[in-house]
Amino acid sequence: MNLAELQKIVYDAGIVGAGGAGFPTHRKFSDKVKQIIVNAAECEPLMMVDHHILEHHLQALIDTLNLLIDTLGADEAIIGIKGKNMHLLDEKIVASLKGTRVSIHEIPDIYPAGDEVVLTYETTGKIIPEGAIPVMVGVMVINVETVYNIHRMVTKGEPVTDKYITIGGDVPKDITVKAPVGIKIKELLETAGYGNLDGKAVINGGPMMGKLVDIENDVVTKTTKGLLIFPVTHSIIQRKKMPMSMTLKRASAACCNCTMCSDLCPRQLLGYDLHVHKTLRAASHSEVMNTESFLQSALCCGCGVCTVIACQQMLDPQAISMEVKGELGKQGLRRQNNKAPEKVRPERTGRLVSSQTLIDKLGIRKYVKDTVTRDYMKFNPKTVYIELKQHVGKPASATVKAGDKVKAGDVVAATAYEDLGTTMHASINGTVKAVTDRFVIIER
Ligand code: SF4
Ligand code: SF4
Repeated sequence: MNLAELQKIVYDAGIVGAGGAGFPTHRKFSDKVKQIIVNAAECEPLMMVDHHILEHHLQALIDTLNLLIDTLGADEAIIGIKGKNMHLLDEKIVASLKGTRVSIHEIPDIYPAGDEVVLTYETTGKIIPEGAIPVMVGVMVINVETVYNIHRMVTKGEPVTDKYITIGGDVPKDITVKAPVGIKIKELLETAGYGNLDGKAVINGGPMMGKLVDIENDVVTKTTKGLLIFPVTHSIIQRKKMPMSMTLKRASAACCNCTMCSDLCPRQLLGYDLHVHKTLRAASHSEVMNTESFLQSALCCGCGVCTVIACQQMLDPQAISMEVKGELGKQGLRRQNNKAPEKVRPERTGRLVSSQTLIDKLGIRKYVKDTVTRDYMKFNPKTVYIELKQHVGKPASATVKAGDKVKAGDVVAATAYEDLGTTMHASINGTVKAVTDRFVIIER
């Protein structure tokens, strides 16, 4: 298989970054990639998707990495996993990797170890330049489930029609399930026995970077990784519910300019010129002339260390930074003076945030279970809602119309191959009930 063939196969399978980012995977492939880094950090607390795949499908992942190495012309693949999770890996398979092009690299138990800038540094010692993509340092970062999805397509011709999801939080038992793409989140939780949400709210993603679920309307997409349930009174939920107008007012009134949010920022510690306290002040005081402080938000990954760990005033620099970043992105405004940090800041070692500190600061210690069970329950939704935009880039356009019969795995929407996007597939057999601006709706 050559590079172009691999790209087309992965595009046809609708594979996007399954860790949450949703970047179309075929567009990451390049003959400039020399090191493939598998993101097995799973650094947000309570999430256990990648670890289940590593535990049960390690050999399939390694076979796929060898295929990627050959096809891209890369030198090696490195699986970056926290030392505390090494016990999940089959010892014999790990031993068989000695002297091969695939290696396991133990990364520290810090947050956010899964940020691609942090992960690249921890596994290779390279620092991705500001505003750049990993391939500029010869690296491709790819999520565990994304590699597994490539394996499923290459070996069995299976496109992406389902998603591994951890259900956890304020529930008696945490489980990881495999659910069809397009099932309503409410139906998924009810089927799994987690349907009583009185006084609770649900987050799609981890407690740090996840988003509040609209329980009546949101559906499972290719990037849904965790559904975490917390009391509505919990600070995690309260923070995510706060309107941006209030967040800005509080920042304007209470920020003491201590700079702790910037001092603990994981990207700043790797040498990035990212000073989130300046972004916060510029935004909350409407300092519209202070353009550099706004533009720096483009360097922010939204990890939330500034908000949850650093700020003693209970402000939310993470939310403000991401809001500014989003608005600038919509307007196509880019920072011009990006640079390539040559070394990390010497204070980094003393300022790393351990996962245990994060759990305590978030107030979720009581929700951390000893085990997360892999539950093989079947979901049989009568109706699925296939979102046209489950990825970074242009939304897909429907290739079917109301009344068409489809089978699970049939293409129902696609983005033009030359555009940044991917394909979408039916996840059940049925009839197309409607095509809307947001969904292709299929009824069994
Ligand atoms: S969310 Fe805060 S800590 Fe994280 S990268 Fe952005 S500014 Fe830095
Ligand atoms: S840590 Fe909080 S109070 Fe200090 S500069 Fe940042 S936002 Fe302001």
